[in-house]
Amino acid sequence: MEERLFNFSAGPSQMPLEVLQKAQQELLCYPGAGTSVLEMSHRSPAYQDIIDRASQSLRKLMRIPEDYEILFLQGGASLQFSMVPMNLAGREDTVAYAESGHFASKAYEEGARWAKAVKAASSREEGFTRIPVTDAVPADARFLHITGNNTIFGTAYHRLEDKLPKEVISAAGSPSAIPLAADWSSAILGQEIDVTKYGLIYAGAQKNLGPAGLTVVIVRKDLLAREKDPVVPTMLRYDIAAKNGSMYNTPPTFAIYLAGLMFDWVLAEGGVAAMEERNRRKAAMLYDYIDNSPLFTNRVVPEDRSLMNVVFTLPTDADTAAFLSLAKSRGLTNLKGHRLTGGLRASIYNGMPEEGVRALLDTMKAFEMTK
Ligand SMILES: *Cc1c(COP(=O)(O)O)cnc(C)c1O
Repeated sequence: MEERLFNFSAGPSQMPLEVLQKAQQELLCYPGAGTSVLEMSHRSPAYQDIIDRASQSLRKLMRIPEDYEILFLQGGASLQFSMVPMNLAGREDTVAYAESGHFASKAYEEGARWAKAVKAASSREEGFTRIPVTDAVPADARFLHITGNNTIFGTAYHRLEDKLPKEVISAAGSPSAIPLAADWSSAILGQEIDVTKYGLIYAGAQKNLGPAGLTVVIVRKDLLAREKDPVVPTMLRYDIAAKNGSMYNTPPTFAIYLAGLMFDWVLAEGGVAAMEERNRRKAAMLYDYIDNSPLFTNRVVPEDRSLMNVVFTLPTDADTAAFLSLAKSRGLTNLKGHRLTGGLRASIYNGMPEEGVRALLDTMKAFEMTK
């Protein structure tokens, strides 16, 4: 095998070698099936078993109660920007958003196409260097949408109670008046998320769950029954997807299989708590170093820093280019910041081992020496 680099991409992102090896082993012939998963009918018993087990593993990992449906959909997290309002609100209804970054703004824009969207809070004025505090949400809002982890700006919600009004946070068995809908694309399974506090959680899989082409939606069952405008296409209805076990049409079969392998890997590694502990360690190594560095800077307020996407800068564009080139020569790739922010970004999802973060730190030290 050619040497694998440490890939700090924000997504699609580095996956654990064990997961790729397992997929490789089973690629030509899935055990007991006489065929590859790639060639398997989604209506076959063997495939039903694959999708059922993926769903059960995710339920176990995130302690998802039985009154929540798990859906495997397509269209990326971006399609959820439209599906959430289309399924939870009518055209005349109010829908509320906390604007904490680029994807949060996109979600708001799609919400505004469908219903009466309001920004309940925004940290745009502060360059999205913090998570805004949402003090109040219109009483008639059909949901409040948040972006749990802001992939581009490197911020995250850590304690919902610090940032959101009580009326949007559910407790187990007692749903909040206004359900919380959250885009957790870039931190799902990377830190503990108490599902019972939400009405709906969604995530594009290519950040922390492995393959592109799959979106996971976790939705409380009572929300499926909300009346829907007849214009909502069948394929964009959660209730139809739920009724059909995520197989109203052909699902992204191989992506679901790969996500299932990722779920099994996280379970074998000790579950989400173990991942979070590891991710906290990885993130702390980088933030500590950056905070004490005369050269590297991170502008995010410490209490809102993401565990998954560490954004940082160097004094000049020439420094940034030189650092990226040094990193590349040492086998570290995709450290360039998002085109909106410039600078640098290290995405350190579950698939990035501590060894990769140490290699990055060594490179940062080596770069400082050249100055
Ligand atoms: C990457 C990302 C998106 C967009 O995901 P797609 O699957 O490409 O549509 C949306 N939200 C967040 C938080 C992301 O990190």
